[in-house]
Amino acid sequence: MRHRGAAPICSDFVIGHVNISGSLDSYGIIPPFFGCVFGCVFSYTHRLASKRIQTIEENNRAKQFSFLFLERSIERRQLGDLSRSIEAMGLWDDFLNWLRSLFFKQEMELSLIGLQNAGKTSLVNVVATGGYSEDMIPTVGFNMRKVTKGNVTIKLWDLGGQPRFRSMWERYCRAVSAIVYVVDAADHENVNISKSELHDLLSKPSLSGIPLLVLGNKIDKPQALSKQALTDQMDLKNITDREVCCFMISCKNSTNIDQVIDWLVKHSKSKS
Ligand code: GDP
Repeated sequence: MRHRGAAPICSDFVIGHVNISGSLDSYGIIPPFFGCVFGCVFSYTHRLASKRIQTIEENNRAKQFSFLFLERSIERRQLGDLSRSIEAMGLWDDFLNWLRSLFFKQEMELSLIGLQNAGKTSLVNVVATGGYSEDMIPTVGFNMRKVTKGNVTIKLWDLGGQPRFRSMWERYCRAVSAIVYVVDAADHENVNISKSELHDLLSKPSLSGIPLLVLGNKIDKPQALSKQALTDQMDLKNITDREVCCFMISCKNSTNIDQVIDWLVKHSKSKS
């Protein structure tokens, strides 16, 4: 029996299997042992990690799927909204066309007045949407045009601020079914001039009692006045000798054009 301290016991035990001597024997068992343990730990952690990766992938796939689902449903909803709005637009156009046809069947003569650039021609175009005959009367220092469609005659006037022609406005405004006065609601500088022109015109006794429709146009512009502000600045509350109505419109966007046509139909003389 060899004497090498504590090591031989170990080495005696080990020698039979490994056949190497002394302290090297003890190293001989440790690497496989640790190798084995490391192997087990590694394979366990690897399995755990791959499971985790699998779960993350599954989660991601699930998330992608739910995003896809969400996107699709949003797309579907947007498409639904779009088709609904198109449908609504179609119905709206039908309604406006019906109002227009009603309007042009009435017997009516009206004066469409306002400062230059207020949007009178645009209004006529929006109301009529083409197909009307236009009769240009030569300009004698001011603008007057006559538009006829169906039984409706619209006299268009530009009140350019030439006081010497005012007596003529009165003559052409007599006996009309209604006076439609267009104001550029976004042109703050000219609202005051527009107001004095209107009040001067309405002060003529021959025009007393003719219904007045004031239209604040260009409300699509951000600086456009509100209805209240326009009513105040045009001093509409002081016109008491006739029916006065005010709408805020945009010829550009066809805003409230239906209300205008509706009002005109109600104020025209029906042939039947
Ligand atoms: P009129 O002189 O009173 O007959 O005015 P017009 O109809 O010729 O329009 C004068 C200008 O205003 C044109 O450049 C039009 O395009 C514009 N206009 C008319 N209506 C509107 C509207 O509702 N919104 C905007 N932004 N511009 C408008």
